[in-house]
Amino acid sequence: MSCGRTGAFFPRGMVDIKGGEQFVYFDFPLSHVLSDILKQGIKRIVVSYDIACKYSIHFHKRIEAREWPLMSRQERKQLKQITLQWLVPKFHLAAHIAVCADKFSFNWTTNVGRTCGELVESNWATMNGLATSTREMGYGHRKDTLTDAMNFWNFKKATGEGNVTLIGRVISFN
Ligand SMILES: [Zn+2]
Repeated sequence: MSCGRTGAFFPRGMVDIKGGEQFVYFDFPLSHVLSDILKQGIKRIVVSYDIACKYSIHFHKRIEAREWPLMSRQERKQLKQITLQWLVPKFHLAAHIAVCADKFSFNWTTNVGRTCGELVESNWATMNGLATSTREMGYGHRKDTLTDAMNFWNFKKATGEGNVTLIGRVISFN
C-alpha cells in the first residue's frame, strides 16, 4: 500500500497474498495504515483502489467483525468522524460500469480531480523483479528483503525529490 501523491510505501502496508486477491488481504494492511494516519489528525482520506466500488460496500462491517476486529473501538469511532472517500484510478475506471464513473471518479471529487490515482499501481513495476528472487526464501528472509526494497524505494523518493523539481522547473522555463 502506498501514498497516491508520492508513491512512497506506507509502513505496515504490506501483506503476503496466498491464492489470489481477496478483500481480506486488503482489509489487514489498510486498517493498519488508516490507524497510523488517524493518529496524525488527518480529517480526509482518499483511498484509490481498482475495485473500490465493490470493496467499500462492507468495509466498516469487515473491520468491526466481532471475532477479529481489525481496528480498536476508538479508531473505528475516529474513522467514522472523518471523510473517507473511495475512488477508482482513472485507467481502471474506464473498464467499470457507467454508475461507477459517477460515484468513484477522481474527476468529480474535490481537491483530487487531476489525480490519476494509478501511482499506487505503477510503483509495483520495480518490485516485480523481487517476486522470483524471494519466492524460495524463508518467511523472515523474504519479509526482510521486501521491507529493505521498499525502504530503499522510499529513500530514493525522498532524496531524489529535488532532482524532479529541478527538471520540472527547467522544462517549464523552456
Ligand atoms: Zn466499479
